[in-house]
Amino acid sequence: MSGRRKKKFEQPVFEQIEILDAGAEGKAIARVDSMVIFVPFAAPGDVVDIKVIKKKKSFYEGTIIKYHQLSEKRVEPRCVHFGLCGGCKWQHLSYDEQLFLKQKQVIDNFQRIGKLTIPPFEPIKPSSEQYFYRNKLEFSFSNRKWLSENEKVEGKITNANGVGMHLPGMFDRIVDIGNCYLQREPSNSIRLFLKDYGIERSLTFYDARIHGGFLRNVTIRTTSTGETMVILAFGYDDDPEISNLTAQLMAAFPEINSLFTVINPKKNDTINDLQLRLVAGKPYITEQMDHLSFKIGPLSFYQTNPLQAQVLYETARSFAAFEGHELVYDLYCGTGTITNFIAGQVKKVIGIEYIPEAIADAFENSRLNGISNTDFVMGDIAATLNEDFVHRHGQPDVVITDPPRSGMHPKVIEQLLRIAPQKIVYVSCNPATQARDIALLSEKYSLDKIQPVDMFPQTHHVENVTLLTKLSPAQAQPAAQAL
Ligand code: SAH
Repeated sequence: MSGRRKKKFEQPVFEQIEILDAGAEGKAIARVDSMVIFVPFAAPGDVVDIKVIKKKKSFYEGTIIKYHQLSEKRVEPRCVHFGLCGGCKWQHLSYDEQLFLKQKQVIDNFQRIGKLTIPPFEPIKPSSEQYFYRNKLEFSFSNRKWLSENEKVEGKITNANGVGMHLPGMFDRIVDIGNCYLQREPSNSIRLFLKDYGIERSLTFYDARIHGGFLRNVTIRTTSTGETMVILAFGYDDDPEISNLTAQLMAAFPEINSLFTVINPKKNDTINDLQLRLVAGKPYITEQMDHLSFKIGPLSFYQTNPLQAQVLYETARSFAAFEGHELVYDLYCGTGTITNFIAGQVKKVIGIEYIPEAIADAFENSRLNGISNTDFVMGDIAATLNEDFVHRHGQPDVVITDPPRSGMHPKVIEQLLRIAPQKIVYVSCNPATQARDIALLSEKYSLDKIQPVDMFPQTHHVENVTLLTKLSPAQAQPAAQAL
């Protein structure tokens, strides 16, 4: 905020408004005249009074001040932190309603942004686990936990230290979490142990405003095979104190397979640029998917819902309908999970990815599983995927692409149109950018299959797999002219 005072925005209140939909960033949507209002933690079907707290050109952001009618699509949120913690914004919606809204998000984006014709499709694939599905959570220690109204009552606050998730939009406050329903035990027990230990020994909890404090972050990684990794980040080095803590932690949780520590004196929480130290167990944990094993180091990327990741990859593999002779490119391959997953069904598959550690893990994962028909190339895809690359590695029959939320760079789309593989299987975590990219590819491709998959129950996030098939020259002509 600048020093000059802005003219105070008068916050209008709209009464008896029906919530119509939910989507963008998990917020619910209502309409007044031609304006859209986004409100958090509402359900389609609620009738409410909304106070506008922000006015933008074409929409308002609001908060609910009164409920007149509660939607039938609501369920009682399971977690006491719902409404405060940014983790599970859709816990108040029944799982069926969550699935309905996610599928609708995909179809709406494809029609509205992509102007695409939707082929017949199977309903969204639900996650077999609606809670405790995550294999990785990072919690922050803070000396400024959010205080509930009860705790604020004078005299009740004994300690403002807590461990949990950041409040949305507040870098310096955390929700002190009792029980998180996203990750299986021993996740909760480890976090609570560390908090109690820190308080009992009067260790300092991190202060994000002045960047000081000893206990900073804890990352807990688990596998579907029951392994556990813990990474403890400290604001500064204190060898005896760290040794004491890690020894106590291992004594309390002998099931921890891998324990790392890291000193992070920086202003941000990222640890990938820091020296990690293995203090107990082995330097990795091992995940199992189908017939494959994957080594996961402290910094390795792995899909966060491992059981549903298999459903996602099986969908992608079945869309490609490999016959065994194909050369495949796997763009944005990460640690080569898809690359290795499909290797047994194709002649050769080449993964491209720009994070060197991920490429090293990808090679290691092929080696670990005795796979010899994969190759991995490190580089930015926009620069790497060019004529020279195709000349060296061969014309691909199928391209699998799984970009980050921002979608594919226009240069990558240009190259795909030039290389023109017979099939493109596009896996996406953002249907808006996927729709945009497919519209650009539709010059040469038809959208033949679409399959939304729910990887993240209790959130608005949705994953979507599509199959694009190259049009015959005769078909491609009219599409090209239409552009
Ligand atoms: N397909 C993988 C990972 C998908 S996540 C899996 O299922 O496990 C997307 C990946 O794209 C990340 O690993 C990220 O590092 C990589 N990435 C993002 N932008 C990139 C770019 N411009 N060039 C190469 N890789 C990129």
